[in-house]
Amino acid sequence: MTLWIATGNEKKKKEILALLDGFPVELKTLADLGKPFEVVEDKPDFTGNAIKKATELYQLTGDWCLADDSGLEVDYLNGEPGVFSARYAGEPSDDSRNNQKLLNAIRSIEKPKAQFHCSIALAGPGGIFTSEGIIRGYLIHHLQGTTGFGYDPLFVPDGFSETFAQLGAEIKNKISHRAQALNQIKPILLNKLNPKRSDN
Ligand code: IMP
Repeated sequence: MTLWIATGNEKKKKEILALLDGFPVELKTLADLGKPFEVVEDKPDFTGNAIKKATELYQLTGDWCLADDSGLEVDYLNGEPGVFSARYAGEPSDDSRNNQKLLNAIRSIEKPKAQFHCSIALAGPGGIFTSEGIIRGYLIHHLQGTTGFGYDPLFVPDGFSETFAQLGAEIKNKISHRAQALNQIKPILLNKLNPKRSDN
C-alpha cells in the first residue's frame, strides 16, 4: 500500500520519513508526483491546514496521504508566530530571518515559555483522521546547535538544558510534537492501510 507525504519542506520530510521508518507501506513524497503541488495555507489553525494539504493531495493521487502543519507558539506573543511560523519574517520562508525576527520580539523577556504544535491529517478512501502533538519549553536568546530546522536552535524542551538543534535527531524524534502526533495516528494508519493485517 502507498502512503504519500504532503510536505515540500525537505527537513520536515526527512523527520517524518525517519519517524515512519519500518512502517509496512510504500512511502511516496511530492518528488514522486512529477508535477508541482502547492496549497494555500489559509486556515486559521494547524489542523485546518493539515486537512487541506492531505485532502488536496488525496484528490490528486487517490491514495492515502499524510500532511503535517506545525509551528511555534510563544506565550508572551499570544501564540505567535503560530500558523504563520514558516513565513513569520515574510515570504519566501527563511529560517534564519524567522529566527532573527523572533529573537527581536522576545529580547526583553527572560526564558520566554513556548511550545511547538503539530497537527497531522490523514486523508484517503476511508475518510479523514487527525492527531495533535505539543511539546513545551522555553526560548533562549542566541542560536545554539546545528541539527534540525526552523526554530530548533532557539527552543529548549522542558526537562532538558539544550536546544532541539543541540540535542539531535535521535532525542528530538523521541519527544517532539511531530513524534507525538505521528504516534497517535500510527494505529489508524496501520488499520486503514493494511485492514486485514490489523484485524487479525
Ligand atoms: P508548515 O510547513 O507550514 O507546517 O510550517 C512549519 C514551520 O513551523 C517551519 O517552517 C518552522 O518554522 C516551524 N516548525 C515546525 N516544526 C518545527 C520543528 O520541529 N522545529 C523547528 N521549527 C519547526
